[in-house]
Amino acid sequence: MRQKRFLLPTTELPTHWYNIQAEMATKPLPLLNPQTHKPIQAEDLFPLFSREASRQEVNQTDVWIEIPDEVRQLYSNYRTTPLVRAYALEEALDTPAHIYFKNESVSPVGSHKLNSAIPQAYYCKKEGITNVTTETGAGQWGTALAYACKLFGLECAVYQVKLSYEQKPYRRGMMQVFGAQVTPSPSMSTRAGKDILTVDPHNNGSLGTAISEAVELARTTPNCRYTLGSVLNHVSLHQTVIGLEAEKQMELAGEYPDIVVACFGGGSNFSGIAFPFMRHTINGGRKTRFIAVEPTSCPKLTRGRFAYDFGDEAGYTPLIPMYTLGHKFQPASIHAGGLRYHGAGPIVSQLMRNNMMEAVDIGQLESFRAGLMFARTEGIVPAPESCHAIAETIRLAKECRETGEEKVILFNLSGHGMLDIGAYDQFMSHTLSDEYPSDEDLLPPSDDILLI
Ligand SMILES: *Cc1c(COP(=O)(O)O)cnc(C)c1O
Repeated sequence: MRQKRFLLPTTELPTHWYNIQAEMATKPLPLLNPQTHKPIQAEDLFPLFSREASRQEVNQTDVWIEIPDEVRQLYSNYRTTPLVRAYALEEALDTPAHIYFKNESVSPVGSHKLNSAIPQAYYCKKEGITNVTTETGAGQWGTALAYACKLFGLECAVYQVKLSYEQKPYRRGMMQVFGAQVTPSPSMSTRAGKDILTVDPHNNGSLGTAISEAVELARTTPNCRYTLGSVLNHVSLHQTVIGLEAEKQMELAGEYPDIVVACFGGGSNFSGIAFPFMRHTINGGRKTRFIAVEPTSCPKLTRGRFAYDFGDEAGYTPLIPMYTLGHKFQPASIHAGGLRYHGAGPIVSQLMRNNMMEAVDIGQLESFRAGLMFARTEGIVPAPESCHAIAETIRLAKECRETGEEKVILFNLSGHGMLDIGAYDQFMSHTLSDEYPSDEDLLPPSDDILLI
């Protein structure tokens, strides 16, 4: 091996999250009440989320929001996370590019999701809430929330997309290890679930449906709130610890990224790694490319439409201004369950419209090929979601090989794939395929959404 692989030294944990909303030239549009079409205020969200998360959701004025001490203490059990120079991958690609990755897979639950699960559970506990509900796709968010709830002594009920419940039994087991009650969605336990199952008994579920069920349970259970692991502004806010640490660590390495890459489900890990660097583009005129990578099977940023749409299948949530494929969209059964969501968060959607970032879509096969290459060089099996970021990084590094440019590429390794070996097995035995939905599959019927 040419050079010794090194881990950059850890730095101080951030004391504040970065609220990019406060610094955006054109701010995200407000959430709307679906009945009155009036902008949602924090108080309107109190019955759904913790009060503090609700206030953070609509906060467009405070640039920095303090991380509570209790949350920082729990962060310090696994943060700061390593920033790694991927020398072995660079060598295998024979590229002059410098490739760095921020390794969020070292969290106790194996993904970045714990960064938001901890504060969300903390605020619920502090406000006297006893029960928490949520949805989960691949199970990463459900696992993170189950553990966070255990830390604070909260009851946790998780609706898991049925496809993932069956594809990833170990993830369900892990949520149960942490004491959560897990129900495959759609289920007969809610009206939203029944409405689907009575028409289509073999429905595989979607994140949109699981959200409807979790919201319905929260609304009909006393002292219970709903939590979400992606999409929303307060979730993106919590994830900025990733980029704030990475910024300091890149400084220690004496470099600054030319390109920042992350996979894209609803936007939380992308926001987390990108926003603290985007701050320097907004305030200091830095020229950095920010690339969100979505799966070809669920391409809301590259092929969706900007509109007001519901965050869930049944239409219980406020209307969200976002790039969307329509809340009734049923994505193909790819293994990157965390990327199977119909919409993109309001902040990221606005940043796309402000030309602050780019998006690409990548097929399942290319992403797993990239995942294998990464595993065989860097020794970490990446989550199928994270494989999408790696695949784009490899494309960029190959471009550098052609042009001879020594670009600095930073990507976020959002999670590990130790519980996704079944998916790798299928890839290696050539039983997986790519999914390219047609335009007709993608375009939401216009009575489903509210065009802006
Ligand atoms: C949930 C998840 C994602 C996708 O969600 P974002 O909010 O877009 O980050 C990506 N990677 C992993 C490992 C996940 O668990």
